[in-house]
Amino acid sequence: MTRRSPRKALIVGAGIGGLAAAATLRRVGVEVQIFERAAELRPGTTAVSLMSNAILALRTLDIDIAPGLDKRGEVFDELKFLTRRGRPIRAMPFRELANRLGASNYAVHRADLQQTLLDAIGGDQAIELNAAATEFVTGDDGVEVTFEDGRKAAGDVLIGADGFNSTIRRQVAVADDPRPGNYMCWLATVPFGHPRVTKGYAAHYWGRGQRFGLADIGHGRAYWWGTKNIPAGASGSRRLGKEQVAGLFAGWADEVQEAIRVTPEGITAQDRPFLQRWGTGRMTLLGDAAHPMLVSLGQGAALAIEDAVVLAEHLKEATELPSALRGYEDRRRPRTEALVAEARALSETEQLEGPFASRMRDLYFRFAPPSKFTSQNEAVLTWPPPG
Ligand SMILES: Cc1cc2nc3c(=O)[nH]c(=O)nc-3n(C[C@H](O)[C@H](O)[C@H](O)COP(=O)(O)OP(=O)(O)OC[C@H]3O[C@@H](n4cnc5c(N)ncnc54)[C@H](O)[C@@H]3O)c2cc1C
Repeated sequence: MTRRSPRKALIVGAGIGGLAAAATLRRVGVEVQIFERAAELRPGTTAVSLMSNAILALRTLDIDIAPGLDKRGEVFDELKFLTRRGRPIRAMPFRELANRLGASNYAVHRADLQQTLLDAIGGDQAIELNAAATEFVTGDDGVEVTFEDGRKAAGDVLIGADGFNSTIRRQVAVADDPRPGNYMCWLATVPFGHPRVTKGYAAHYWGRGQRFGLADIGHGRAYWWGTKNIPAGASGSRRLGKEQVAGLFAGWADEVQEAIRVTPEGITAQDRPFLQRWGTGRMTLLGDAAHPMLVSLGQGAALAIEDAVVLAEHLKEATELPSALRGYEDRRRPRTEALVAEARALSETEQLEGPFASRMRDLYFRFAPPSKFTSQNEAVLTWPPPG
């Protein structure tokens, strides 16, 4: 069936990707209805880096989230790479590129990012809570989603933005097992003050088979995450309490040890094999549901936002909805596939465990010419991406 533009998009999942899609689709005149499984909007207690490419992508639709992020989060102008004891390996400068692009990179609490995206959607957001989608049917005239409690909703297109364990994805993809990253990750946001953790501080500390990230997220708070290689099969040793995590980072830089103040929740870092087919008929996927990635690049949230922008561009003037959705998928696949692979490769480098290999890594990062990194950074942080 052909229609000038879709009247109504059903979005399953009110995470970063679902909220961003609601904002971008509304901006191009599409009515949206969001369905969230949880009983309340739960952004999580941790933080994310939100990089300039996400901000620039939204600006192409005249949506500017920078003022909200300036108010609620913290800009970081460089990312320091340090040894576990806090000695410098290399600093990755972002300020010059940010000035040139006209957008900064932020570290922001997830709740603050959620609020910023809700602001971008505007008032009277239609978010139905307690709505766990179980299946969908796509036909010539529309798409229908069924929820756990038997409710049904009908619309013109369906966007599966239901995250890593997406139910919607399961209906278009052959069952795929998550690929464990072979390391555990503990993370927390804490009220924090330390002489070395100044405004806009962002640092990665590299050990052997272990790393630690620490970032100022503004308003006297810091975000930290620590990792340790633990083979996927060793499930018992994956559940460590706060004291054991503190023990893993004993002897690390003072600010690292001091940041481990709250009982962290252990989570497994993982991605999935890259999915080539994201949709069928009037349904498509977006964000982690389409391209879950390991966290090393700090790009998962930004890629979900980029998806939302490209999706809106494709639906804006669409007369053939299924082909507009396939057009969106074709445009997004190359960049997301490349960055999923890059995140995995970087993660393997960062988690190197052998003394020789981890020493070589540190030396390489210390002495490689800046040009090695600048073009790579620019390709990731720019929108539209070069080439
Ligand atoms: C430890 C860690 C650190 C990270 N750090 C960063 C970082 O620094 N920078 C960055 O850019 N990214 C980071 N990421 C990745 C980032 O969090 C994700 O890429 C991003 O949240 C994806 O957004 P999403 O909307 O696709 O999925 P999600 O944020 O997972 O949202 C999915 C939503 O769908 C809902 N849902 C699920 N199933 C259903 C259903 N059946 N029906 C209805 N609703 C449903 C869920 O409740 C949830 O609200 C990190 C991830 C992890 C795990």
